Amino acid sequence: PLASSIQATTALLTVRALSKRFGDVQAVAEAGFSVAPGEIFALIGPSGCGKSTTLRMIAGFERPDGGEILLGGRRIEAEPPEKRGVGIVFQDYALFPHLSVLDNVAFALARLPREERHAKARRFIAMVGLEGLDARFPDQLSGGQQQRVALARALCAEPRLILLDEPFSNLDASLRAATRREIRGLLKETGIGAVFVTHDQEEALSFADRLCVMKNGVVQQVGEPERVYYRPCNAFVAGFLGRTNILSGRVAAGASTADTPIGPVALDRPASGEVLLSIRPEHLALEPAAPGCPIARVAEREFKGHDMTLWIECGGSQVQMDTDFTCPFRPGDSVRLVARSAATVLSD
Ligand code: ATP
Repeated sequence: PLASSIQATTALLTVRALSKRFGDVQAVAEAGFSVAPGEIFALIGPSGCGKSTTLRMIAGFERPDGGEILLGGRRIEAEPPEKRGVGIVFQDYALFPHLSVLDNVAFALARLPREERHAKARRFIAMVGLEGLDARFPDQLSGGQQQRVALARALCAEPRLILLDEPFSNLDASLRAATRREIRGLLKETGIGAVFVTHDQEEALSFADRLCVMKNGVVQQVGEPERVYYRPCNAFVAGFLGRTNILSGRVAAGASTADTPIGPVALDRPASGEVLLSIRPEHLALEPAAPGCPIARVAEREFKGHDMTLWIECGGSQVQMDTDFTCPFRPGDSVRLVARSAATVLSD
């Protein structure tokens, strides 16, 4: 109880038992998580899992059926969007087409005198790397530049929390990674917390400090990217955040390993009886076949440029493993599969 009350007072955003139904669809079901000041938090899951609805309830565009949203410890569910002190960056940037970059960014500062408003807007335009483009109109900018104008406009109001809906989805792949790094730097520099929605696993893993995986409106797991990637709680999370092998295994009484179709593997936590395990392809290695080991055979080799994936048949199962140009094995070769790290015991 002490730990949870400390967390409640220091959290920037707390969402508790948040629910929303549209007709027959339970879009969000009792969702809960909290975001620390200055933290970048991702809502991730497949299409229709409820991540946008969650973000829209935090923004104030959608009224929850139940639950609580606290910003800095204050309940905000009943407040209109403009009273919440939350910045929003929409997927399509929603810039005013008839306003210059300067006026778009200065828009949130209407209450300040003109000179002060423009000076402040210019600071934020420089911060996002668009110095000198003040007079341009949105249609004279690239997608990446428009994205940065939208961000400057949201940051300019100096909110404690900024909400970003699929912020990088309109950028091409080469620009996306660079923009992501830049924006992460800006958020960290300003200390503004962020909640963003994405369906892109790599984006969530690389951009967020912590992420929340959702499925059918239900929060599956919340945690730091590496934690959730390496220790997924269930088969859905394991499979959604990258490729994995799901294996059934059996743990004998008192044993710390499970017998699986690929042989005995170590476990990340104590378990007994029948278990379901996840092993990432990069955590498997191959060695030449040895007497007494389960017979495995390379079935397929998938070359992908900087690395490759081998598909291995073993004990009636097929598993995938990642390797690189140094791998001497070819389809048809007999091999032995070795797990280089403990397998994750899944809860379902
Ligand atoms: P996507 O990645 O496709 O945007 P999402 O995870 O953001 O999906 P939501 O947009 O939150 O999912 O939708 C969750 C569920 O609620 C879906 O089944 C969707 O069809 C439904 N839904 C969302 N908004 C409405 C609405 N205004 N009216 C009816 N149903 C809705």
